[in-house]
Formats: sequence, C-alpha cells, structure tokens
Amino acid sequence: HFQRIGFIGLGNMGSRMANNLIEDGYNLTVHDVDHNAMKIFSERGILTKESPFEVADSSDVLITMLPSSNHVLDVYTGRNGLLSHGNTLGPWLFIDSSTIDPQTSRKLSATIADCSLKRKRDGFEVPAMLDAPVSGGVLAAQAGTLTFMVGGLEEAYVAAKPLFLSMGKSTIYCGGAGNGSAAKICNNLAMAVSMLGVSEALALGQKLGIAASTLTKIFNSSSARCWSSDTYNPVPGVMDGVPASRNYDGGFASKLMAKDLNLATESAKEVGLEFPLTSQAEKIFTQLCNDGHGMKDFSCVFRHYYPGNDE
Ligand code: NAD
Repeated sequence: HFQRIGFIGLGNMGSRMANNLIEDGYNLTVHDVDHNAMKIFSERGILTKESPFEVADSSDVLITMLPSSNHVLDVYTGRNGLLSHGNTLGPWLFIDSSTIDPQTSRKLSATIADCSLKRKRDGFEVPAMLDAPVSGGVLAAQAGTLTFMVGGLEEAYVAAKPLFLSMGKSTIYCGGAGNGSAAKICNNLAMAVSMLGVSEALALGQKLGIAASTLTKIFNSSSARCWSSDTYNPVPGVMDGVPASRNYDGGFASKLMAKDLNLATESAKEVGLEFPLTSQAEKIFTQLCNDGHGMKDFSCVFRHYYPGNDE
C-alpha cells in the first residue's frame, strides 16, 4: 500500500481499527492525547506524533475515532488541528468514524470543501470528507467485522472502500455529507426504544407470573420479535453469551447509549420535531449513568424496572 494513513483516537475502538490497517500492510502514523495509548504503538515501531497537525502533514488519508463532537471539532479546527496545515497540501481524504451529530459532520465537510488547497484526484475535487460511523462494538473492531455507514461524496466513498473493508466486513453508502452520522443515531434511537419496550414487557410478564424465557419464546415467534428479544435479550439467563448473562459486563456501555440518545434528541430539536419516546429513553439512560451503571451494557436497563433489586 503506497497510501500513508494518519489515525487519531486510539481508544477502545480506534486502537483495534488501527491494528487491522497495520496488519493489512498500511503505513500508519498515529496520535492520541493519551500518551499510554500512543506508547503501545510506538513500542511496535509505528510512527507517533504529538499533534493532529503533524499527523496531517505526513498522511494521504486521515481517520479519526474520537468520543464526541467536541473532540472531533477540537482535532480538526483547534490549535495544531488537522486543518491548520497552512501551505502544505495535507491529506486528500478525511474520514471521521466517531459517532457525532450530523450537523457537525456537515459543518466540517463544508469547511473542508471550502479549503483553498483544492485539487483534482481521480476526477473529483479533494480534499474530501466522509462521515463513517460504525456499528459493532469492540469485538467487531478487533475482528475487523465492523459495518460502516458512510456519508459524503460518492466518488470519495468508492475510493475509500478498501480501507473500510480492512477494518470491517461491510459498508453502506448513505448519501451526502452527514448522512452516515444521521443513519447511526437513528439506528441507535430505534435500538434503545426497542430494548426499553422489550424490557418493560418482560418485566410486566414476570410480575404477572410468566417466566421471561417463556415470554421470550412467544415474542420470538410473534409480532414482538426484534433484535432486543432474539439476539440481545436483556433478562439474565434467557440467552447465553449476551451481556445480560454476565452481569451486563462488556457490550455497549449505557453511557454511550445516553450520549447517542442525546445526539438524537438534539438533532430532532434542530429539525423542529419532538419525540416523546426518544426524550424518555434519553432520561432513563442518563438516570442509569447517574446511578453508577454507565459502564454496564445498555441492556441493564431491564433492572431499572426492579428498583430495590439492584446490586
Ligand atoms: P474511547 O473513549 O475508548 O476512545 C477515544 C480515544 O480518543 C481515547 O483514547 C482518547 O484519549 C482519545 N482522544 C480524546 N480526545 C482527543 C483529542 N483531542 N485528540 C486526540 N485524541 C483524543 O472511545 P471508543 O469506545 O473507542 O469510541 C469512539 C467512538 O466510537 C465514539 O464516538 C463511540 O460512540 C463510537 N462507537 C463506540 C462503540 C463501542 O462499543 N465502544 C461502538 C460503536 C461506535
């Protein structure tokens, strides 16, 4: 691979995604504010830099995997940020895989499109930006089986596909800038509300005397069947290998779900919509975090319906 890849944000997801690129032979330069995260890479002979600007300076394609919108804005437009590259050309493609709000993705994409260092590459204008959040957690990041939902210029998406397939198993083109971010938060909104619905129904069933395993069997062959009932059941002991059966450890942290629901309610407000279920789901997951369960898998919301039974 002749392309030089810059990777910023070496956390739970990013470190594993960067690893897969390295294993596929890409030439990486990495950065994280956390020096311990960088050390793991420098000890393996991977080039590390002290600022996003320095990474941009030595990369053709730049990938970011950061916690939230503020961090992304900071890395792109802050002091020594990616876009402070002055007279040097910098990367021709920016890919942001963080889960952030579509408005921020669109703003950044427009900033990059306005940049004065425009040039042509394979028939389209660069630098270009793709918002490319992922579905699949830490295990999928490790195994290279993530799904990327991608917004931005279609030609740029096609050019970036080999990179996505090095870190994941599938990619879905969602349309223009911000549409990848929009797809991600809409998916998580629906997932949160379905998990809450299944949890309430199974809790009510138990109180009415029907075992959760029996009720789950009924759901799974009836109209209530969904991912939260048949793949990721929230009741301990009903399914093997899910977070519910290991004290809600591992999986998708409630604090990330609370963050994503906040993005959904903010986006809804921005387009003049008010969604009672989304707002309520955000409140419930925020409460779970305030009660100290932020690191537990989001299916621990089932326990929310049994006050007093909590650990
Ligand atoms: P994380 O907190 O483990 O990692 C984020 C990394 O970014 C950290 O190493 C942190 O030090 C670094 N960072 C923060 N600010 C920085 C800055 N200004 N400059 C450089 N580095 C900086 O988070 P994660 O679990 O890897 O998640 C990353 C993104 O992926 C989030 O938006 C999350 O919602 C999304 N996501 C996570 C999962 C999951 O299961 N963990 C699944 C899908 C999507």
